[in-house]
Amino acid sequence: MSQQQKQNNIHWLTGQFLDADKELKYRHSIESSVRSDSRLALLLVSIIFAMFGITDYNLLGLTQEYYSLLTMRVAVVGSCLVLAFVIGHRGGYAEKAWLHALPLWILATGIILIVPLRPESLLTQITAVVVAIMAFYLLIPNLLTVAALASLFLSITFLAASMLYAGVTPTGAIRLGLLLIMANIVGYTALRRLERLQRQQYSLLNEERDQNRELLQEIKHRKSLEAQLRMVAENDALTGVDSRSHFMKRAEALLQRSRLEDTPFCLFMIDVDHFKRINDTWGHTRGDVILTKIAEVCQHSLRPTDIIGRFGGEEFVVGLPHTSPADAKAVAERLKQNVEALSSTDELNDLELSVTIGVAVAKAEDDLDMLITRADNLLYEGKRDGRNQVVMKD
Ligand code: GH3
Ligand code: MG
Ligand code: MG
Repeated sequence: MSQQQKQNNIHWLTGQFLDADKELKYRHSIESSVRSDSRLALLLVSIIFAMFGITDYNLLGLTQEYYSLLTMRVAVVGSCLVLAFVIGHRGGYAEKAWLHALPLWILATGIILIVPLRPESLLTQITAVVVAIMAFYLLIPNLLTVAALASLFLSITFLAASMLYAGVTPTGAIRLGLLLIMANIVGYTALRRLERLQRQQYSLLNEERDQNRELLQEIKHRKSLEAQLRMVAENDALTGVDSRSHFMKRAEALLQRSRLEDTPFCLFMIDVDHFKRINDTWGHTRGDVILTKIAEVCQHSLRPTDIIGRFGGEEFVVGLPHTSPADAKAVAERLKQNVEALSSTDELNDLELSVTIGVAVAKAEDDLDMLITRADNLLYEGKRDGRNQVVMKD
């Protein structure tokens, strides 16, 4: 979005967002600071307004006018203090424009009432009105429209009261009017600039937040894609055991570790017996299901530290770290029996299922390929020897 477009989202006259929802969200976002700033400003203004009571006394003494002025000042200060309390405790301050406007209108009325009560001090009052206009725009945090309306009310009514009660001539009224217009223009322009700047800053911050959120979403998405890709690369799609390449990587690491730690390492090559026949009898799809079941049984026959991969077709390879030859043989026998037992389950009834396993024990000079070749040779010895057996040589 260009700078121009960003500025176009803000009304040129009111300094508010054109989008009502966005404006409300913005006001909610600054509500707590506006609330405390407004209370502080009202307290300050009340003190200043009350302090003018001292000059009233000096000028008027304990006269009827003085008491009238005092009553008016007490009413204005009292109302402002009550409003400061209400602003601090009432919810939904951001939506209630009247709650923002009310203190300004009370103060304006108080200032105007001084004219008939002390017409001789008009000069001081003109200065006070100019300062009050500035305060309406800049000291009490408010919406531009609220501040502008209250300032206009103060200016016009003050001008009228000056002519009615303080004997200001039409020429004098024009001069006073120009002064008040100037004060309003300065206050209005300054607050409009502030309103625009604050909203532009809010928009930029939100944009940045949205971009960050999108970036986080993207990172999350990429991470999940990465995990999926890793899953595909590391696992065999049909059986879920390690893919051949992933198994080789893990087995290599385990073999090296066993050499460093001088612990035994054994390896199985497993091949399903007469699997072609199974496919021919039951069909390839059923063959896939049976292969998955066999892989499951193999996996469950191992310990959590052992690793299993699909070497290809209906061949599986198993790595057993920290396993003595005797233990490896026992694990292989258990695995073979568990596969055989599959035939007696309801699902695979009448199927003759068996595996032949070649077990190789790692020697100091073995690399992984040598170990696999040895296990493979032993497996084929078992095949030649009638299948459904574990073959292991010292
Ligand atoms: P044996 O190993 O006992 O000598 O006999 P076999 O019938 O198992 O012989 P071989 O190992 O030569 O054949 C393996 C068969 O396994 C060949 C192929 O049709 C089948 N096969 C390989 N991969 C899959 C697979 O992913 N799904 C299915 N359903 N069959 C497969
Ligand atoms: Mg085979
Ligand atoms: Mg086979």
